[in-house]
Amino acid sequence: MTAETIQPFRIGAEWRDGGGECIRSVYAGDGSVIGAVARATARDVDDAVEVAEKAFRTSPWRKLRPDVRATTLYEIGRRITAERQDLAHLQMLDSGKPLKECQHMVDNAAYFFRYYAALCETWQNEVTSPRGDYFSMSLAEPFGVVAAITPWNSPIMAEAQKVAPALAAGNAVILKPSEETPLLALQLARICSEAGLPEGLLTVLPGYGEDVGAALVKHPGVRMVSFTGGTDTGRAIAGVAGTRLIPVGLELGGKSPHIVFDDADFEKAVGGVLSGIFGSAGQSCVAGTRLFVQKSLYGRFVDALVERTKKVRVGLPDHPATQMGPLVSKAHRARVAGYVDIARQEGGRVLVGGGIPDDAKLANGWFYQPTVIEGLPNTARACQEEIFGPVLVCLPFEDEADVIAQGNGTVFGLAAGMWTGDYARAWRVARELEAGSVWINTYKQSHIATAFGGFKASGIGREKGFHGLRLYSQVKSVFFGMHDKPLGL
Ligand code: NDP
Repeated sequence: MTAETIQPFRIGAEWRDGGGECIRSVYAGDGSVIGAVARATARDVDDAVEVAEKAFRTSPWRKLRPDVRATTLYEIGRRITAERQDLAHLQMLDSGKPLKECQHMVDNAAYFFRYYAALCETWQNEVTSPRGDYFSMSLAEPFGVVAAITPWNSPIMAEAQKVAPALAAGNAVILKPSEETPLLALQLARICSEAGLPEGLLTVLPGYGEDVGAALVKHPGVRMVSFTGGTDTGRAIAGVAGTRLIPVGLELGGKSPHIVFDDADFEKAVGGVLSGIFGSAGQSCVAGTRLFVQKSLYGRFVDALVERTKKVRVGLPDHPATQMGPLVSKAHRARVAGYVDIARQEGGRVLVGGGIPDDAKLANGWFYQPTVIEGLPNTARACQEEIFGPVLVCLPFEDEADVIAQGNGTVFGLAAGMWTGDYARAWRVARELEAGSVWINTYKQSHIATAFGGFKASGIGREKGFHGLRLYSQVKSVFFGMHDKPLGL
């Protein structure tokens, strides 16, 4: 693909060119346009849903034995791995993430297909103990057409996290990737088709959220919506889905507390806090954005953290030594910088960072310095709103009760982490934190088989693991009569 050509998308057998309208993908490392994809509109949604419904009803996919369906899913995983380098490179250009992170995301995308293939192989329905002359079983059935809507921060991985289980459960999927990062989703559609997925079961519509995304959520043929993105968008989608009475899976924003008790392993905690916020340049829903350090340790810990932050290597995504790449777009960098200004106005002291790096090599990209701020109360906007950038706020705390109250003191509940030498305390605090994932003496680990999702305004439902398969299935209970005599009144 070149920057001049417009890559079409496909609905069933038909290629669409967007009538000349396109979405450009810009490399955040230097601001250059690296490609353009035809832009889908709400009109394409009608056609895509019709094709997907037809594929769902007429292709053998939903009726295949799950272990047979698994063979196609394995093949998709195999092909993703075979194209690892090219996909990771494209991912880097599309999202601006460091190449190493992109390789990791491509690997994870392949794992999702392999994992859900394996679950298909071992999937069991429930048979209930009889309470009469019958036996009953509960079967998992697909919904039909599922709309999957994804954000820009982890392309291909976030998409595979939805597409793999939704297909494994027998659904047809229409995927709308973020307008910022449309390229990898189209590659995924190509790979699925080449791997033998029946036509029409996966359609990718690169378009705008308020147009294509909103039209998908409203469409009467769409029977389930799976969304990852911001909390406000999630709320709007849930409102429409509520009116339509269709199920939603929502993976939304976070403002995760990262807690350091005074008995923590100091070096490990510093490293954990650093990677928890500056990994992915803070563009991670689970980033540990609010650091709480016990008062007796606060000064020493924050000093050490600031020194380590100064050494974070901000650089071009394709440089092997780069630890932190650019932000996804110029507009997003302005948003992040705006939050740092707000923090200053609210009385925050910027201890390190707080601006654009002064490095000529990075001048054309959307870089921002890793930033540490202190002096704000937990009620400040920088402590309450998702910044989605490399900005950490530090707050001291007294004791367990104080940090639990402050940690839980936002609308979000996606993740939390803590560092302590006392496992009994870790267990107590973990149970009190309102968060879908809690890390103890580690941070940001994820496991393909471990449920992931949010409490409170961070989401509804769980992805990954067996929960992921359940999310895309509805349960049907079937009763088989074993009566010797006719039923009476
Ligand atoms: P947005 O909510 O802005 O967008 C997410 C997706 O929704 C995009 O594809 C967007 O399209 C689309 N969209 C926008 N408006 C609508 C609408 N009215 N109806 C349907 N779809 C719509 O999020 P971002 O892309 O900015 O991603 C960042 C957010 O994602 C952060 O809040 C982050 O926390 C969250 N996130 C959550 C994760 C989790 O697992 N909990 C994981 C990763 C990110 P378009 O791009 O065209 O606007």
